[in-house]
Amino acid sequence: MKVLVVEDEKRIASFIKKGLEELGFVVDCSAEGNEAYALATTQQYDAIVLDIMLPGRDGLSILQQLRKQANAVPVLLLTARSELGERIEGLNLGADDYMTKPFYVEELAARLHALARRVSGERLSILQAGELTVNLITREVKLGETPLRLTVREFNLLEYLMRSPGRVLTRTQILEHVWGYDFDIETNLIDVHIQRMRKKLGQEAAACIETVRGVGYRFVRP
Ligand code: CA
Repeated sequence: MKVLVVEDEKRIASFIKKGLEELGFVVDCSAEGNEAYALATTQQYDAIVLDIMLPGRDGLSILQQLRKQANAVPVLLLTARSELGERIEGLNLGADDYMTKPFYVEELAARLHALARRVSGERLSILQAGELTVNLITREVKLGETPLRLTVREFNLLEYLMRSPGRVLTRTQILEHVWGYDFDIETNLIDVHIQRMRKKLGQEAAACIETVRGVGYRFVRP
């Protein structure tokens, strides 16, 4: 899942980012309202974690503007205990859920997963190709009955490829979805990850990940 975290308190933002990344999320952060709004409208996110009091433009105004434009991205508001009025207004404006600070990042992650499932009911929790099974909820990957150990990045990479079978995904798209837009890496890191993942997947499943020369990669069903 790719999530935008909008929070101007550095300590809280980095706690959320670190915690969600450890749980396998791809996280972009913004500490300023106008920048956050620009990101929310130009990037694709599975959910937005939105603080209310922000410099530049407040969270409720961002939410209102997104809903006005029929942008249905799931939004979870972060509120202070005292912000009851804002919380109610936010839910009326189309927020999908809220959490009161302080909170456990594990609960935030569980709520984000629930939101993603609720919003797109057709979203499958299990991806399958031949012998290969990927459970998006438990994050288990199996080849037949044998569990495979993928790193967080390898898992996200495999999930991204398997979600769009037959479609060529460019290195830039892969970079944005699996590493996040501000991640500064050598593009051949993607190739290194693909190679490593192919080895773990075994011959049949590895062959499903096709290299498209000069462009990127494509997942084809066996
Ligand atoms: Ca704030």
